[in-house]
Amino acid sequence: MRAAIFNGPGQPQSVDQVDIDRPRGREVLVKSVACGVCHSDLHFADGVWPMMPPAILGHETAGIVEEVGGDVTEFKPGDHVIACLALFCGSCEKCLSGNPHLCFNTGATNRKAGEPPRMTYRGKPIQGILSLAGFAEKQLLHENAVVKIPEDIPLDRAALVGCGVTTGVGAALNTARVLPGSTVAIFGCGGIGLAAVQGARIAGALQIIAVDMFESKLAMARRLGATDTVDASANDPVQAIMNLTGRGVDYSFECIGLKKVAEQAIASLKPGGTATVIGMIPITEKVEMDAMSLLSERKLQGCFMGSSRFRLDAPRFLQYYRQGRLNLDDMVTRKGTLGDIDEAFRAMKAGEVVRTVIMFD
Ligand SMILES: [Zn+2]
Ligand SMILES: [Zn+2]
Repeated sequence: MRAAIFNGPGQPQSVDQVDIDRPRGREVLVKSVACGVCHSDLHFADGVWPMMPPAILGHETAGIVEEVGGDVTEFKPGDHVIACLALFCGSCEKCLSGNPHLCFNTGATNRKAGEPPRMTYRGKPIQGILSLAGFAEKQLLHENAVVKIPEDIPLDRAALVGCGVTTGVGAALNTARVLPGSTVAIFGCGGIGLAAVQGARIAGALQIIAVDMFESKLAMARRLGATDTVDASANDPVQAIMNLTGRGVDYSFECIGLKKVAEQAIASLKPGGTATVIGMIPITEKVEMDAMSLLSERKLQGCFMGSSRFRLDAPRFLQYYRQGRLNLDDMVTRKGTLGDIDEAFRAMKAGEVVRTVIMFD
């Protein structure tokens, strides 16, 4: 099969042949149909987060089950599925307490030592990103990495629910539990930020303030539910949020991955408010919070995959899509093929797209 190979930070991806094994045990072989190019892929491609080359990126992926291992009972060939990087063992304390995204034992879903690798490239094992390999024509996955979805949902839209949409909508609904009538500020209107805007709208927030440097993204945020927008290239966003709200917001979301923006998200809270950091801040950095913020019960929390139980949440979010409450159509701004990934990264950095979705034949 063909796959886009990550050759190291800052280097172009090359499309090349990769060998893939057949499913064993609880594995499913999925034919990739669509894969969104997510900002986290860019973090790995740029070397902000470490990833040993060669490897295969792509983790916002939807496809069709082609073959299943002998112990698989929940899936059959022909099933439409979304894959999710938050795969789970199903039996650890976190899984059993309803937090499978924090699973202690995801290693249990890997192949055992002595078994052949799932994929090989030029005769050597090759890894996909976070157990997935969305930029490959096929993926061999543990069944706990996939969820079955209805066949009437277009797979290019469904793919977004594999990461960005679940992360942003889940951050509002699950992690922060935004209350009806509350005020919200969203810093960064890329795919995850726009999904958080939609999550806040679905939750019934009264005021949703979107912050970004690009007017095109702010226009999209207004289209998707923002009641106010702040152009951070021309204004101090914290001051602008104070001007719009009087005392700050109940909930803020950092959706870029910058220490400075995380601290702005804290500074824009009213007393008792909660800042949720969704963006991937470089791992060597620390986020600071002053003592007055703590005394006034402002809270800072992390977020992984929108605290989602993706087997439950992904079908729910797709039902929101069916009902017209979650807009996925406007979030797919461009489509491409395997050779277009570097261009997709460039367009993402330039603020030209919400999502490029890579399509397979
Ligand atoms: Zn677990
Ligand atoms: Zn992602």
